[in-house]
Amino acid sequence: MTQIKTEIIGVGTELLLGQIANTNAQWISEQMAENGFNVFHHAVVGDNLQRVMAQFEQSGKRSDVIIVTGGLGPTEDDMTREAFQKISNLEMVENGPSMDKIEAFFKKRNSVMTENNRRQARLFKGAEVIDNHVGMAPGMVVRHQNNIWIFLPGVPREMKAMITNTVLPYLKQHTGEHTVIKSTMLRFTGIGESRLEAELKDIIHSQSNPTVAPLAQNEGVAIRVTAKASSAKEALNLIENTKQQILSKVGAHFYGSDEQTLPEKVSGLLKDQGLFIGAAESLTGGMFMDRLISLRGASAVCRGGIVCYDVKVKENVLGVSPETIQQYGTISEQCAAEMAENICSVLDADVGISFTGAAGPETEEGNPPGTVFIGIHQVGKDTVVRKCIFQGDRNTIRERSVIKGFELVMNLLEKEY
Ligand code: ATP
Repeated sequence: MTQIKTEIIGVGTELLLGQIANTNAQWISEQMAENGFNVFHHAVVGDNLQRVMAQFEQSGKRSDVIIVTGGLGPTEDDMTREAFQKISNLEMVENGPSMDKIEAFFKKRNSVMTENNRRQARLFKGAEVIDNHVGMAPGMVVRHQNNIWIFLPGVPREMKAMITNTVLPYLKQHTGEHTVIKSTMLRFTGIGESRLEAELKDIIHSQSNPTVAPLAQNEGVAIRVTAKASSAKEALNLIENTKQQILSKVGAHFYGSDEQTLPEKVSGLLKDQGLFIGAAESLTGGMFMDRLISLRGASAVCRGGIVCYDVKVKENVLGVSPETIQQYGTISEQCAAEMAENICSVLDADVGISFTGAAGPETEEGNPPGTVFIGIHQVGKDTVVRKCIFQGDRNTIRERSVIKGFELVMNLLEKEY
């Protein structure tokens, strides 16, 4: 595999003044990485002939492929062409089809083309034109000495279309670089980022292809596995091997790959097992059911839920016994258990889940904010209640309760408690 060195140069004083961010370089880098090209430098230079020339000289020495964006426009301060002409001594010629396009552009708008617009159709002799399907000025590829120079307009829309449609296919064809990069996301719940990292320390540090990177997520933790190879099949094989190594250590916490979410996983498990779920939600206020009902096919697995925020609703609608509440309080293992059991009978559900706790900011019934009891009941089995202590503000605590709830239902349905 050859190691082509690529560099991206942004031309424009506005970039140096901080008036615009160099998003072109960021986007191009991303595309190059995905296609297996190494980008070793980003440079930015203002609209100054000497400095643009100096930058081009330096870039030509250290890089094989140089992608330049901006400074191709019609005005005097557009320096890119002139600077490259001066360092390369290449002749410039007007490109007929590009000129026709520019003239047609003005005609269509019924405006007079000023003479300086002709500059935009001037290309280096021997250059390949990169058609601009979304704007006026063309881009070009110039092979000079041992380098490939690619000149593109600064306007992001135009630049992006050219990179995707022309530049990447051109580079693949002319550089012999055929690397394919594939990535997959492995998703875990019920394990913190630091523990996951500790369990996988050897795998993370010992290998560079695929690379293994843990990422914190709202719903648990994810690990991104990225492989580089000369074919998609080979890259996917590398990923699969590493995935198996990872799962042999932390597979118990794995719930899905790529875009799969925890509610989708749970919904799939319920459907496979022909079970309906109901939720008794106090502090979560319906958020758990909302996540399930927002998925397609919810009617095959959801009975519904009761938002039993007030104690009267817990007693009168859900039938939690006043004695339980009097003796243990609403934020208690006993109350959570009755809520989970009763929601099954009230809604004719096979699986019941309940949430009761102190979302904060105040302490409730002597429980500090973040104290949450989650009850899980499957008809015919013992009820399980988990006491959790979550950190965060009110809504973070509610969100975390819901995620934990999904994790507990998943565990119930995947294996015996
Ligand atoms: P045109 O021929 O259309 O004038 P150009 O090649 O001369 O294009 P510039 O005039 O340098 O390009 O830039 C045009 C516009 O594109 C800028 O005003 C800016 O909004 C945007 N732009 C230029 N360079 C960048 C960059 N590196 N990142 C993000 N946006 C950019």
